[in-house]
Amino acid sequence: MNPSDQDDLRSRLTPLQYVVTQEAATEPPFTGVYVDNHDAGVYRCVVCREPLFDSGTKFESGSGWPSFYDVVEKGHVKEKSDFSHGMLRTEVVCANCGAHLGHLFPDGPRPTGLRYCINSASLDFDPRDAV
Ligand SMILES: [Zn+2]
Repeated sequence: MNPSDQDDLRSRLTPLQYVVTQEAATEPPFTGVYVDNHDAGVYRCVVCREPLFDSGTKFESGSGWPSFYDVVEKGHVKEKSDFSHGMLRTEVVCANCGAHLGHLFPDGPRPTGLRYCINSASLDFDPRDAV
């Protein structure tokens, strides 16, 4: 990404959205705007608007972050190994723009057994009615 794109992002995103998506920060648990969102709709990448998750796969994980057991469509979310904080975790990023989204854990509910633990700050919610 060239410097002018970075400046554009800094002005377009909130400071929290910027550090989460561009510097892989994590928002404090139970603070995100979408933790308790139960409306039907699509969660998009806050940076590039790529559809990432659907409300139909959102579940209550108790973790304090929006949690999904699947992605809206294969290929929209990319997995990367993350060795930070002294442990191996699977980081998930937007496949389109590389924005940091959160982490993937193998302890989710059926049918996938996956838990996508995602920062609200990485997401932009489109209610179904407005689509
Ligand atoms: Zn994106």
